Amino acid sequence: MKKLINKELNQAQQLIYSKSNIRRAFNDFDDSDIAGLYMQDRKILIVRTDGSEQDYPIEPIQTAYRSYTGRLKHFFSYFGPNMRGPSLWKYNSYVIFKGWVYSHELGKHNPAVKYQQLLCERLSNISNLYTLVSFLQSEQTDIGHHIAPDGFVIPSSHGFSIKDEDEEDEELDTPKASDPFCSCGSFQNQSKLADLFEQEIPGHKPTCIHMTWFKRYRDFLGKRTEVQNNAPRGVITKAVAWWYKPPSDGNSKGEFFLAYTKEGVQAPVNRWHRYKPQEQFTEDHAWDLFDNMMEAGYTPFQGSQLPQLSGLS
Ligand SMILES: [Zn+2]
Repeated sequence: MKKLINKELNQAQQLIYSKSNIRRAFNDFDDSDIAGLYMQDRKILIVRTDGSEQDYPIEPIQTAYRSYTGRLKHFFSYFGPNMRGPSLWKYNSYVIFKGWVYSHELGKHNPAVKYQQLLCERLSNISNLYTLVSFLQSEQTDIGHHIAPDGFVIPSSHGFSIKDEDEEDEELDTPKASDPFCSCGSFQNQSKLADLFEQEIPGHKPTCIHMTWFKRYRDFLGKRTEVQNNAPRGVITKAVAWWYKPPSDGNSKGEFFLAYTKEGVQAPVNRWHRYKPQEQFTEDHAWDLFDNMMEAGYTPFQGSQLPQLSGLS
């Protein structure tokens, strides 16, 4: 009989086959009293403190890891002050802000929001990638991330490197120009351990919640433009206005609501109708509701930008 060997998990395996991901894959997984996790012949072996053992197949855990790592966060997760979306820095890369303003009704007073405003003003003066990332992600600031979802585009005549020659940053993997990039810890881990990830999950490409959100938001903007362009005779008559009130405590959801009209975005307040007033929508409904409205030909507008609707919010 072949003797099974218990192997220690390498760094990539530790990220993939973490207790949390095993729990995500197997609801009945009990994560208490664990003495060790090992790889045994394409299974994860759990050794308990009482000496008992269990094993789990790796594929469902890999699937759980991938879907969790690239999960879609709600619509308001990555807007800066005044609903500022991804801000172009240069070389086809962007800053995305953490949605502090929208996470809580007092979020606008969070000191991070001041740093976000400051960065918006100074963004074009920052020329160095590491300076930018350390401002975004320091413990004091924690205001957002730097992302190049389609890789960097650096003009060849420019002779430019996105970092200074003599500068090293252990936290950040040196970006390869054509590869997608995000400065967050999750993406950086996958990028630095790319070879181990490839061994474990062939074809795996680093991903993260920021990458997923960014692409989803770009799709949203694309659809919105398409709906506008398809308006009969170029006049937008079907419009939907939306409002969002962040939650008042950490355990509850915010309030998301919509009003629509078929008489143009400038229509007076009495020509607008609340969308499904009997239902309570939250931030978790926003992506789907926007999709539904746009599929029905409605162009979304921020309600707070429409002065005639100020009474509705
Ligand atoms: Zn990221």
